[in-house]
Amino acid sequence: MSQLPWKNPTRAEALQAALARRILIIDGAMGTMIQRHGLEEADYRGERFRDGYDALFAPDGHAHAPGCGCESHDQRGNNDLLSLTRPDIIRGIHRQYLEAGADLLETNTFNSTSISLADYRLQHLVRELNREGARLARAECDAAEALDPSKPRFVIGVLGPTSRTASLSPDVNRPGFRAIDFDELAEAYREAARGLVEGGADILMVETVFDTLNAKAALFAIDDVFEETGARLPVMISGTITDASGRTLSGQTAEAFWYSLRHSRPMAIGLNCALGAQDMRQHIDVLAQVADTHVSAHPNAGLPNAFGGYDETPEDMAAVLREFAESGLLNLVGGCCGTSPDHIAAIADAVRGLPPRALPTLEAAA
Ligand SMILES: [Zn+2]
Ligand SMILES: [Zn+2]
Repeated sequence: MSQLPWKNPTRAEALQAALARRILIIDGAMGTMIQRHGLEEADYRGERFRDGYDALFAPDGHAHAPGCGCESHDQRGNNDLLSLTRPDIIRGIHRQYLEAGADLLETNTFNSTSISLADYRLQHLVRELNREGARLARAECDAAEALDPSKPRFVIGVLGPTSRTASLSPDVNRPGFRAIDFDELAEAYREAARGLVEGGADILMVETVFDTLNAKAALFAIDDVFEETGARLPVMISGTITDASGRTLSGQTAEAFWYSLRHSRPMAIGLNCALGAQDMRQHIDVLAQVADTHVSAHPNAGLPNAFGGYDETPEDMAAVLREFAESGLLNLVGGCCGTSPDHIAAIADAVRGLPPRALPTLEAAA
């Protein structure tokens, strides 16, 4: 697709070199770690959002005052906002994952699109949250690299799926209805991607894809942003399997998912979330066979239990993922919901010294 030069050739080459040498470790869950802090509404709001809206921004430039018309909105659970209001917590979580052995940190930006932020009436923060989210991860990666220059650490700028799907109707009585269209999604992703690039992400990842059309909008937007800036970053795509028959929500198998996105020439294709490692194996195996690029897996710590928690221990998960690596399926591995630095440390130990999956050389079409 894009023939633009790398934005940062030295970083891109360091990434390629590391991928050629070993299986790289992606970090684990952000939400699980934030939960441990037991934060209240006031923690999420901080000083700037103390009244439940942004003290630094008013839609028409008015001066906020009692009765100015700005409505207070709860911010508890708006984890991405913590990049502004509790950056110490976000940096601390990033640092713990690096100390556990992560080569790649995911930015705290999973919901930093205008679509998801509208739930908190903070859609004007898209650019800022993505930029600051990338900066926090960048600062921790740079600090870790300064301590050990032999081990480069990379920032994955995360673009989440949003809660809307472009290819399915949310209303069973109106199958032709769409809550969002391609152009709206692409515009939302452009703004997010600009912030991630500005904040210093090394890689952009379209994550937890449950609708391939949403992913196409994200990849389209990413290309636009690369064109704007005259340079590109490596791109990763990670889908999620949402039903027992092994399909994404938009109805594709892992193989179809790859073939519908391979034209974008991602640096890696993989799966995350929804399933534990064991249930993900057959689908990663398929990707490992068909994809002429790197393959990644960052599963949940098992399926959610009755309380919405995750039960797989670091040892459970590491044992299963070690077998993936021994079978030659992995180039990158990490954790999603329910995983912690202990999980990541165990996974890193389990795959250490095992060779990365060799990329297949696919025969040119006759
Ligand atoms: Zn106001
Ligand atoms: Zn997850």
